[in-house]
Amino acid sequence: MKTDLKGLNALETEQWAVDKGLEPYRGRQIRHWLLNRLARSCDEMQNLPKDIRALVMEKALIAPIEEVKTLISEDGTRKYLFRLHDGHLIESVLIPERDHLTICISSQAGCAMGCRFCLTGKGGFKRNLTPSEIVEQVIYVKRSLSDPERLTNIVFMGMGEPLANYDAVVRALGNLIAADGMNFSHRKVTLSTCGLVPEIEKLGRDTTVNLAVSLNAADDETRSSLMPVNRRYPLSRLIQACREFPLPNRRMITFEYILIDGINDREEDARRLTGVLSGLRAKINLIPLNAASGAEMSPPPMERILQFQEILADRHFTAMIRKSKGRDILAACGQLTGTYEVGGRRSEVRGQPCLAAKAPSSINQETKLLGLRSSSFIQELSR
Ligand code: SF4
Repeated sequence: MKTDLKGLNALETEQWAVDKGLEPYRGRQIRHWLLNRLARSCDEMQNLPKDIRALVMEKALIAPIEEVKTLISEDGTRKYLFRLHDGHLIESVLIPERDHLTICISSQAGCAMGCRFCLTGKGGFKRNLTPSEIVEQVIYVKRSLSDPERLTNIVFMGMGEPLANYDAVVRALGNLIAADGMNFSHRKVTLSTCGLVPEIEKLGRDTTVNLAVSLNAADDETRSSLMPVNRRYPLSRLIQACREFPLPNRRMITFEYILIDGINDREEDARRLTGVLSGLRAKINLIPLNAASGAEMSPPPMERILQFQEILADRHFTAMIRKSKGRDILAACGQLTGTYEVGGRRSEVRGQPCLAAKAPSSINQETKLLGLRSSSFIQELSR
C-alpha cells in the first residue's frame, strides 16, 4: 500500500525516507515539495534525482483527492466538490474577503451529529477523512489561485464535526501550521465544534488554534431539540469546558448562534444567552438560518434579529449579525451536502472541472466587488 505522505509529520517523513534507503534530508526535501511548494506530482520535484522521483511515485500517495466540479457564487464564493479515492464526495468553500481569502474545509464525509438545521447532518455519516485528505483541500485550492499568498485563513466549518475525527484533525492541523509544513498562522485557523466536551478539553492542550462553538440555544431543552449532542453534553458541561479552554492573550471563543424563527429568537432567549456566557471571553455571531438548510424552519424577520442583537449589546457582548456567503450555490453554513443541488434541481456531476474554475484571476475582481458587500460570519471568525 502506498504511504500517504501529506499525513506524516516531519520526523515520520524523514523516517519514511530512511526506510526506503535514502538520506533523512531527502525526506525533508519531499515534505517541502508537498506542503510548501504544493506539488501534486513527483515530476514537479526538480531537485530530486530521477530515481528518487520514481521511488516516491511508486511508494507514496501524492494526490489523495480529485476535483469533480467547482461552482462560483454571484458573490465570488467558490464551492469545490472533491471525490475521495473510495468515491465519497466532500466539499470545500473558498471565501473572498476584502484583503485575503478564507478556506472552509471538511473533516468528514457527511456527519453523524444530526443537527436539525443542517443539510450535511441530514445526509448522514459516510466516513472520517484522513489527515492528508484534510490538508489536500487547502493544497488543491491554494494551487489553483493566481496569488496563493492571499489564502491566509482556514476554518474547519465544512462537512463533518472536526472533533469527532480528533486524531486526524489534530495531525492535519500540525501540517497546516508547522513552519516546515504549510506555515499558516495558528491565529488564523479556527475549528468549529457542535460541543464535544472531552475533545474540547484535549484540543486546548494539543493546539493553539481558535475555537468556535456552535451554540444555537441558551437552554438545554431548546438546544437538545436542535442538536442531539446536547443530550450527551448539556450546556453546563459545554460552558464549563469553554471557561477552562486556555485562551492566549486577547483571544476570544466565538459562539455561533443560528437564529430560527419562533424557536430560539425570543427576547428571553437573548437574555438567557447573556447569562450563560457571562464572564467568558466571548464574541457572538448571529446567523439568520439559511432557509435551504432546514426546510421546516425559517429565519426570523430582521426586526427581531436586530432586537436580539441589541439585548446582547446592552449587556456589553460583541454580537455581529453574519450573512453567510455563497447561498446561491448552497455553499453557506449548513448547506454542504456533497452534491450539487441548486434551485431544487440536482445537477449532474461530471468528471471535469467547470470552465470558471480554470479562471482563478477572476477572484481578484470578485473580491473588489465584495469589499462593498455585507460581511460574512466566516469573515469575522477568520480575522
Ligand atoms: S452543523 Fe456541523 S456538527 Fe451539526 S450536523 Fe451539520 S456538519 Fe454536523
